[in-house]
Amino acid sequence: MSRKIDKVPTPAYVVDEQALENNLRILQQVKEAAGCKILLAQKCFSMFAEYPLIGKYLDGATASGLYEARLGHEEMAGENHVFSPAYRAEEIEEIAAICDHVIFNSFSQLRRFGGKVKEIQQARGIAHGIGLRINPECSTQEHDIYDPCAPGSRLGVTSEDFARAAEAEPQLWALLDGLHFHTLCEQNSDALAETLQAVEQKFGRWLQQDKLHWLNMGGGHHITRADYDRQLLIDLIKGVKEKYALEVYLEPGEAVALNAGYLVTEVLDTVTNHGVNILLLDASAACHMPDVLEMPYRPPLKDSGEAGEKAYTYRLSSCTCLAGDIIGDYSFDREILPGDRLYFEDMAIYSMVKNNTFNGMALPSILKMDASGDCTLVKKFDYQDFKERLS
Ligand SMILES: *Cc1c(COP(=O)(O)O)cnc(C)c1O
Repeated sequence: MSRKIDKVPTPAYVVDEQALENNLRILQQVKEAAGCKILLAQKCFSMFAEYPLIGKYLDGATASGLYEARLGHEEMAGENHVFSPAYRAEEIEEIAAICDHVIFNSFSQLRRFGGKVKEIQQARGIAHGIGLRINPECSTQEHDIYDPCAPGSRLGVTSEDFARAAEAEPQLWALLDGLHFHTLCEQNSDALAETLQAVEQKFGRWLQQDKLHWLNMGGGHHITRADYDRQLLIDLIKGVKEKYALEVYLEPGEAVALNAGYLVTEVLDTVTNHGVNILLLDASAACHMPDVLEMPYRPPLKDSGEAGEKAYTYRLSSCTCLAGDIIGDYSFDREILPGDRLYFEDMAIYSMVKNNTFNGMALPSILKMDASGDCTLVKKFDYQDFKERLS
């Protein structure tokens, strides 16, 4: 049964398939112009009901560990990659059996598991599947929580440690087929240009050797954002391909589903405290959009303005116990009443993948909306979903 977005049960994520496909078309154009491969980073968006659509445009998926790797293997066509800061001994064989690229975070993990993974991959006919994450130590953004290049980071091998290990243990260097870096977050291609300079300066001597087959430039490229300089990205990738004869991979999450979904919520009550008018929603920042509190940021909301900009200002909050579960202050042209619906925008990314049921809050339903605006229910959650994660 389909219905319009103003009739869907709340709370609900509604993924706009037309917007998703527009993003995918842009990514396909970049792939073709640059001659690179693009994978979906599943940690950002794992709505596998859309994997058949995504698989039509992208080259596959990447995972943060075994579970996402299994999901990619089961639901996405094309290549299946994985990077994890550390793998467990008991999962490595399964990972090697379902992943085309297995990327390690340290020489100690490579030493421990590289030979085994290589053997299993070779038996599957995969010749160049072993990678190592490098740390170019080039910070291009200010959000410390999203900066893998900050001093003391656990993510990736620095050039100094790389040289030491590769020289002391040439058999480990011999195992490697590619390098991976991931340092960007919601950034434009100028940040990639700066990062590539650091990568070339610090790791160029390794890239130059004929031995490596690919370079994975990670995610954080906001390729589908209106002001993103795609031509620069294309030129940078072509430059690397020509100079080092490497295959290039990108693995964006956000860029795939940017601005492609809503979180629909209903106003359950309004209260006032010290002149602040507060809306109690059936959606929560803590449970359904944790990045609002973690990052923090103020999510876009349809038909709203900044506090004080329009006639009626409200603080948007939820039904959890957390006093700080506040989404932000927004203003509207009209008074908002219980029963009204609000539509948070850009809610496909880093939303459903991060949900929790703190306070026994309901998990939002998941729907998809087609080009005509008809919404179909993909998944509904209930009390059992809450109970089954507990004991
Ligand atoms: C988070 C992450 C991505 C995707 O990042 P986006 O910012 O969503 O594009 C890709 N690769 C790795 C290793 C990541 O950690």
